[in-house]
Amino acid sequence: MAEFNGYTAEMGEAKIRLNGNESFNDIYKEYLSESLENGLELNRYPEDESIELRKAYGKYVGVSEKNIIVGNGSDEMLQLIIGARIKKGKKFLTVCPDFSMYDFYVASYDGEIIKHDFYNNGEFDLEGFIEKGKSENVSLIMFSNPNNPTGGVLTEESIIRILEEFKDIDVVVDEAYVEFYGNSMIKYISKYKNLIVTRTLSKAWGLAAIRVGFLIANQEKIEELIKYKVPYNINSISQSIATSAINKPEIMEENLKIILAEREYLVKELKKIAENNQGKIKLYDTKSNFIYAQSEVKSEIIKALENFGIVIRNFNDDKFRLTVGSREDNSKIISIIERVLRGDNFAGFAGEGSCL
Ligand code: PMP
Repeated sequence: MAEFNGYTAEMGEAKIRLNGNESFNDIYKEYLSESLENGLELNRYPEDESIELRKAYGKYVGVSEKNIIVGNGSDEMLQLIIGARIKKGKKFLTVCPDFSMYDFYVASYDGEIIKHDFYNNGEFDLEGFIEKGKSENVSLIMFSNPNNPTGGVLTEESIIRILEEFKDIDVVVDEAYVEFYGNSMIKYISKYKNLIVTRTLSKAWGLAAIRVGFLIANQEKIEELIKYKVPYNINSISQSIATSAINKPEIMEENLKIILAEREYLVKELKKIAENNQGKIKLYDTKSNFIYAQSEVKSEIIKALENFGIVIRNFNDDKFRLTVGSREDNSKIISIIERVLRGDNFAGFAGEGSCL
């Protein structure tokens, strides 16, 4: 058993997963049994069009169900768009870094991925992005906003510029984390026929297990793209749980407040550590439920966290990303990172079967 600042960790104990940007609270358990009470028939295929779910989400975001396709996670919707627009010889423009699945889908449809640095001297280089898209003659543009993994955002004005400059191709704004930011582009789907927004229940809604996401666009676009949707893609249990959850958004909103308060706490404490350890750790501003950071002692931080069962996202360079956790998890993280930066070698538990 390893011990540190009052925390103990046993090898093999349950992992604290702060690598997937999920909600740390499991708030909709009761809807599982409710879906049975609502007359769920396991012998029947699910309702193919997910009508009730589309109506519920449409009401929540202020559009008609005719503006929505439901996906098995927003992942399915991203794949559907890429599959419809990208093939050999076609180019896809995104920012770097961004969600790794874009690369996966574009490669699987034999397309070419073009990337533009998200941070260029600390700011998004809008003109360079537009120039690259034009000179490369791209067929599709897609980026996450807030951006995963940095947590940064493109302003509404910047996105409108992109929509105006690329009127003939689809511009997909992946809003997987938008609830943590608050500014959606959905209000522009009628004005900009080339705008597609994707959303998910996996993050702020705390329903990653049921795999429900949405594609939102003007009606003509939906009528064209829905032809690519596979039949019965959303199982009946997911449809039922998702519809019940969306019909009571105040439950999610309450949970969102808790996550945002924890984000504030974690950012504040990590900033203090950064100030006290000049140059050793750099934090990026976040509008999401995770924090992106850079450190010369990244490997030590990751190993120390792992030793206490805390798993975070590691990148190939000197960057890492941690999902906002519960107060208990966040306090542990703060304490461990502080000790690592101070130069503690964790000798207290290095010989106890730990991996340090
Ligand atoms: N977009 C972004 C930016 C993401 O980070 C994720 C999940 N990590 C997704 C889309 C996919 O989410 P889901 O399929 O669970 O809706």
